Amino acid sequence: MSKDIQQEVHKLTDTLLSMQHAYYREQRPFVSDREYDRLFDRLQRLEQQYPEYRRKDSPTARVGSDLSSQLPEVSHTIPVLSLDKAYSSSEVRQWMDRTRKRFSRDLSFAAEEKIDGAAIVLYYRDGVLDQAVTRGNGYVGNDVTGNVRTITQVPLRLTDPVTAAVRGEVFLGISDFRRLGDQRETGYANPRNLAAGSLRRVKSSETAKIPLQLCVYEGYIEGIYLADHVEMLQYLAYLGLPLSRHIGVLYPPGSVRPVGNQHFSHWRSMSFDELEEYIRESTDARESRDYEIDGLVFKVNELAAREELGYTGHHPRWAVAFKFESPEAETVIERIETQVGRTGRITPVARVKPVRIGGSVVSNVTLHNQEYIRMLEIAEGDRVSVSKRGDVIPAVERIVEKDSQAEPHWEMPELCPSCSSGLEEKGAHLFCVNPLCPGQVFERIRFFCARGQMDIEGFGPETIKVLIDRGLLKDIPDIYEIDYDAALEGVGGFGQKKIAALKRGVELSRRQPFAAVLPSLGISDIGRHAVELFIQAGYRSIDDLLQLAENHEEQKLAEIHGIGEKLACSLGRALRDPVMRRRIERLRSAGLSLSQEQEDTEGSGVFSGQTWCVTGSFRQYKPRSRAQELIKRHGGKVVSAVSGSLTHLLAGEASGSKLEKARAVGARIVTEEEFSGMLQDAVRNDSSNQ
Ligand code: NAD
Repeated sequence: MSKDIQQEVHKLTDTLLSMQHAYYREQRPFVSDREYDRLFDRLQRLEQQYPEYRRKDSPTARVGSDLSSQLPEVSHTIPVLSLDKAYSSSEVRQWMDRTRKRFSRDLSFAAEEKIDGAAIVLYYRDGVLDQAVTRGNGYVGNDVTGNVRTITQVPLRLTDPVTAAVRGEVFLGISDFRRLGDQRETGYANPRNLAAGSLRRVKSSETAKIPLQLCVYEGYIEGIYLADHVEMLQYLAYLGLPLSRHIGVLYPPGSVRPVGNQHFSHWRSMSFDELEEYIRESTDARESRDYEIDGLVFKVNELAAREELGYTGHHPRWAVAFKFESPEAETVIERIETQVGRTGRITPVARVKPVRIGGSVVSNVTLHNQEYIRMLEIAEGDRVSVSKRGDVIPAVERIVEKDSQAEPHWEMPELCPSCSSGLEEKGAHLFCVNPLCPGQVFERIRFFCARGQMDIEGFGPETIKVLIDRGLLKDIPDIYEIDYDAALEGVGGFGQKKIAALKRGVELSRRQPFAAVLPSLGISDIGRHAVELFIQAGYRSIDDLLQLAENHEEQKLAEIHGIGEKLACSLGRALRDPVMRRRIERLRSAGLSLSQEQEDTEGSGVFSGQTWCVTGSFRQYKPRSRAQELIKRHGGKVVSAVSGSLTHLLAGEASGSKLEKARAVGARIVTEEEFSGMLQDAVRNDSSNQ
């Protein structure tokens, strides 16, 4: 018996450590959080009962490490730990009561949303952002300062010149994730994984492509006395840091309860008896958020009491996380099929017996790749438990009952399910490399017509399928050449009205701007944001880009802030492909817009009416064109030489002769620091005007 328990502890320790590796280091967990938490609790309970079997490297003794050897390491000045967990309102209440009993004075508690992203610590020195560091192993993290600087909400300079360590969560909005997921096959299963992965990119230009956001929730500020958590948050807001707008505070009997607080649009003062109702309401409210929350965090409000409570090696004793349940239901995997995406990626999908989960019916569950299937030992016929994590993507939680007749686990096919070509392995995925593969053609056209791309009304999967089956739709440009009246005459479900709407949709799409046409071609990584950056940097037409690709000069694009090498190479490769070139020429003949007219961005923004020249080298703005783009984005004009019309010179180190010339024409000389401050004001103005 004791041998069995020792073995179970040993196995659980190994399993949890490998799950931590997949989750923290690779941002590609192979089990759901719920399953991880279940195994973690089991190990914790066994270790409490049989401490003699606890291994030194137990995951319950320290936080899971996300340290990457590719990034520099930095020691934290404060421990950055995990949180203790509670799974019901009564467990939270018991924790509060236990904690209150330890003090002669009564305590209040703050309740915050637990945003599901990646933890970050921002170190400010004399009010200036010095370093941004990931949680790492809680004591040492990775320096990701360059990446964090790309997040517009992160102030590079605080309102006051304080020295502070600020903790927060970097996250990605659900709608942003969906948009990116549609436009580029990110390979990440949810916003949390994509946010954590982006934060750890070696190249900041890669991070800049993802619209990450920040929410701060703790601050340790040198020389400033703050009595409680709410006061601390107010001070962080004053310093210019973004907070969650939702907070609850539980006050002990007999204390004065403020009815509101200007820093929080959703403020709730309550008694301990209202806790259960608060948890219920917050659980319901999370569906209305555009970001994922995986629970609520309850924290002792009084900061002096926190000091007395201190930390274990794994979590602070002054906080507990209430974790939301993901809605879950049992069903049977009827069969497993593979789908081919527009880039040729093959994805296994479980067709399950339709089951209602969290308000919608689920009949398809993605199984990601072979590794995922192998880890969970999934096979056709198995009875499985399926959850909808964060209400975004249904996932298999675990096998409830194995089909005794079935193979131990399902194996990916060796040929493409659509065209039977051989498959090629790239990373964790298999790809069909036949560009004429009908499955890819269907997905490519579907992507081109979809909402958010060319947005062609009436051109949905059904219509595409009918036209492909009739041999009329073989590539994107055919959309503009088909005679729809003749093609759909007599086809069931296509009445005159429907055909007229379809033709109207196609006609309207001819007016889409270049910034919509190019991303709709489905080139890996090339979304609308990238095309807008090309345009801002002066590459205003497809011909500019075709020319670069032909001359193998796409490296020039990699230098644009927010583009990077991977994206530039992907575009270069795609635009050299004869099939793509032919497609583009046919779209040109069809009258689609393949260039962007010079538009007048001057006249709006804080730099409007100003003429800037940028000279010297900069710490933050590398390459220099980054600063030039920012000036233009905020309405300024950028010139390369100093003349009488110059109003501002942004002077970096070793500015040279332009400095003297600018002084001579009376232009204002702006240092890098001043410029950062001006930009922050600009961002604040923009957000307060929204
Ligand atoms: P945690 O759930 O213990 O929570 C701590 C984190 O919450 C903090 O580091 C911080 O980033 C975040 N947070 C968000 N809002 C906060 C707020 N208002 N105040 C304080 N912190 C806030 O996270 P953890 O220690 O990183 O990991 C444990 C959890 O991660 C597990 O419970 C599990 O859900 C998940 N996990 C999953 C797998 C998997 O394979 N699926 C593997 C490892 C961990």
